[in-house]
Amino acid sequence: MTVGQIIKSFTLWEFIKAHALTFRYMWKPKATINYPFEKNPISPRFRGEHALRRYPNGEERCIACKLCEAICPALAITIEAEPRDDGSRRTTRYDIDMTKCIYCGLCQEACPVDAIVEGPNFEFSTETREELIYDKAKLLDNGDRWERAIAANLAADAPYR
Ligand code: SF4
Ligand code: SF4
Repeated sequence: MTVGQIIKSFTLWEFIKAHALTFRYMWKPKATINYPFEKNPISPRFRGEHALRRYPNGEERCIACKLCEAICPALAITIEAEPRDDGSRRTTRYDIDMTKCIYCGLCQEACPVDAIVEGPNFEFSTETREELIYDKAKLLDNGDRWERAIAANLAADAPYR
């Protein structure tokens, strides 16, 4: 057998092997999904985009205790607060620098009233750095938008907390 014939038969054998492999996997369940049209399920403990929650009557949950700010290892949270006329204490500023956040979840764990949470949203990429400096309005808006999913996740996780 000449060198050319050896190369030809080798190439043919590789060709057959490749197609056999293709046909073998063609009928197996797919290992990939068609993101973003399909998404994998996520855990109730998933730590995604932050949100500030409200009570059902619309009142902010946050009582400005600043535990989240104190515990944040990335120094990503900045809070300013003052008492309201009715004596309750509420934040006047609540910023999270999402470019500093390491998604450790400690702010959520520290919060005594489940106000700051890491919700299920993981699709919040931006085109500019500035858009990742979240202020109170943005965080409350996230809370309003994701409240149903956040409440369900907290309820699912409650027996283990
Ligand atoms: S998840 Fe961790 S790093 Fe991010 S804001 Fe909360 S405490 Fe800070
Ligand atoms: S979000 Fe929670 S931990 Fe942070 S200041 Fe408000 S009440 Fe305190």
